[in-house]
Amino acid sequence: MGMKKLQKGKLERATELANTRCVKIHKFIPSGRSICTVVGKESEELVDPLKQLCTCGDFFYRVLTGKTDVCYHLLAYKIAEENELFEIIEFDDSEYFSFMKALLEDLAGT
Ligand SMILES: [Zn+2]
Repeated sequence: MGMKKLQKGKLERATELANTRCVKIHKFIPSGRSICTVVGKESEELVDPLKQLCTCGDFFYRVLTGKTDVCYHLLAYKIAEENELFEIIEFDDSEYFSFMKALLEDLAGT
């Protein structure tokens, strides 16, 4: 395998997403559990920063196959974390199920 070079375009896109507050932390109260999504160009993706997972096609086809290190959503998360650019939205715990259901349906494209 050759060098995994970070594309310049990807970093620029990720920085723009972080700067425009597209990295969202959905925080559920009072449990404190949180869900992170990143609103990309075409869709909103679910990101798990601890496991370094993302639901986008780039992650599935390029990161998992070792063609690249990160997708731009995970990169945007990292930039937002370093610069405190998160958009934090609070929800009640009772909304958790319907929130996840809507998000997953959205991801499935239904
Ligand atoms: Zn992604």
